[in-house]
Amino acid sequence: MTGTETPTHCPYCALQCGMSLRPVAGPEVAEVVERTGFPVNRGALCGKGRSAPAVLRRGVRLTSPLVRRRPGGELEEAGWDEALGRIAGGLGGVRAAHGADAVGVFGGGGLTNEKAYALGKFARVVLGTSQIDYNGRFCMSSAAAAHQRAFGLDRGLPFPLEDIPRTGCVILVGSNLAETMPPALRYLTELKANGGRLIVIDPRRTRTAEQADLHLAPRPGTDLALALGMVHLVVAEGRVDEEFVRARTRGWEEARAGAMAHWPELVERICGVPVARLREAVELFCGAESGMVLTARGPEQQAKGTDTVGAWINFCLATGRAGRPLSGYGCLTGQGNGQGGREHGQKADQLPGYRKLTDPAARRHVAEVWGVDPESLPGPGRSAYELLDALGQDVRALLVMGSNPVVSAPHASHVERRLASLDFLAVADVVLSETAALADVVLPVTQWAEESGTTTNLEGRVVLRRRALDPPEGVRSDLEVLHALAGLLGHGKGFPADPAEVFEELRRASAGGAADYAGITYERIAAEDGVFWPCPDADHPGTPRLFLDRFATEDGRASFVPVVHRAAAEETDREYPVVLTTGRVVAQYQSGAQTRRVDELNAAAPGPFVELHPRLAERIGVAEGEPVAVTSRRGRAVAPARITGAIRADTVFMPFHWPGEGRANTLTNPALDPVSRMPEFKVCAVRLEAAR
Ligand code: SF4
Repeated sequence: MTGTETPTHCPYCALQCGMSLRPVAGPEVAEVVERTGFPVNRGALCGKGRSAPAVLRRGVRLTSPLVRRRPGGELEEAGWDEALGRIAGGLGGVRAAHGADAVGVFGGGGLTNEKAYALGKFARVVLGTSQIDYNGRFCMSSAAAAHQRAFGLDRGLPFPLEDIPRTGCVILVGSNLAETMPPALRYLTELKANGGRLIVIDPRRTRTAEQADLHLAPRPGTDLALALGMVHLVVAEGRVDEEFVRARTRGWEEARAGAMAHWPELVERICGVPVARLREAVELFCGAESGMVLTARGPEQQAKGTDTVGAWINFCLATGRAGRPLSGYGCLTGQGNGQGGREHGQKADQLPGYRKLTDPAARRHVAEVWGVDPESLPGPGRSAYELLDALGQDVRALLVMGSNPVVSAPHASHVERRLASLDFLAVADVVLSETAALADVVLPVTQWAEESGTTTNLEGRVVLRRRALDPPEGVRSDLEVLHALAGLLGHGKGFPADPAEVFEELRRASAGGAADYAGITYERIAAEDGVFWPCPDADHPGTPRLFLDRFATEDGRASFVPVVHRAAAEETDREYPVVLTTGRVVAQYQSGAQTRRVDELNAAAPGPFVELHPRLAERIGVAEGEPVAVTSRRGRAVAPARITGAIRADTVFMPFHWPGEGRANTLTNPALDPVSRMPEFKVCAVRLEAAR
């Protein structure tokens, strides 16, 4: 395949920027061509998107299955028959010896909807296991849980991005769009050009925070108190939208009582944000005719992430900034298919269409589509970290698809040990990731440009990635892998390798569910620049804006949730006196498995670092670029100092994209949110020393 330009989407983050790909002769394989017609990014791409074809090259990616023929031996090239046979034998053998729940499956938020759907079905129908979850649990699960609690439905943004420039005020909480999805910054620039106001809440003065009219820098882990303090001020200053609260919500009195216990002066002591700044934020937000609160990983990746997001939703509901045009709460989803990946069955408690695995009607519906007895479907399994923590014990064999938990999971050295203790590990990936390097069998799979499939971006817009290139010899798609494994394990039917066929089944399985894709087709997506779910039938226009008439609860009202502040799971003390928070940099993506293999991205972001305030640097005696040892109760990491006044003096920041000595997740705390089971990536206690 050469020369033809194919419209498609970036393989990385949840913005799912439109681009076109043109095959080229030679080792470069393909080049990116601007696709200005796609409304989300209008042709703009960040460096990751522009350089994405680099991972398609031979030499960078895997092109042959690898097997470890003896324990402790090296991975060696093998044929597909041997590799697939070993996986069927490994998974099937453990299942026969220890039961179905001794076999686990770990998916990824980058998998297409078709793959996420097929993987969930494979786990429950072929393996019969309840033990399936995915790395998206580490990304948006707290916002998802809070959405469900308040609105009865979880879709990242209840409005399209194009609404942002037309609202009056945006509060951006724990989101650094300048690093995570630069093309989305234009929505904030346009907001300001239109006279709208921007408030950024972030412990660091990021490039995004620099654009704000007001920047609040709370101590990490105190966002919940900050949100409650703002609700308190809304009440104290008579800013509650009483009519909206009466007509469209329930539970205000209890939520109000919780917020009133959070006096602004108390909140100032907890967060370190002066009362005057809190008042200013409330004034800016309530003074505008409309407003949005957008959260990202900052408030969500905490052991109280669901309550923290809940407090921000309470703030929106109390001020009447929800369920109305140009107003509302939204979550800026992170992973490429973070939204769709949590809708179609790879999550531990879910069936396709965002149905609950515990709902008898949902089980009947999906079982009928799958042609199985509803009684045969297992119940909910463990969440992602709990599943990883059970490896080598209750769970003895694992199939990993599109995930690299050795770098991305909290308390990563522990997770690495657990993976190494498995009886059998199989990994399907495009590169030899740090997790794949531990496997008994590694399968080389096709990439975004070499296969078709849908993803659902942060707006709930279902988009189509089209096959633009022929894959190199020696690789197969994830769907082909599941088709072959299902056949070897006795299910010759029901696992098509063609993504279009899988999508047709997904449409039927999702019909009538919360995330209803029944009216979405590949043809419609192509003709309409994506279709917003829910879209229950072919004549339905899709739903770009949710909740304008009613919320998705039984009585149509949104629920306030009574929440109160609590400390982080791990507070600082004399031994560990500094707070560590983690995040991303613009030139790398998630665990870095792909982006660390791209020269231009490595030149921009060659390795980990410890960002710290000059006073803290002086106290421990390090200069710019000198190695700093960061130690938590879980381990030690070393990386060069990056000294800046843009961070609080009681906090250090590390990006989490790298393995080895500078791996940030060696340090992070796996304390889980009780509702979402999200680990507390954003806060843990550490001590710092010069490591010269
Ligand atoms: Fe890709 Fe996200 Fe960059 Fe867009 S912002 S080019 S989707 S990584």
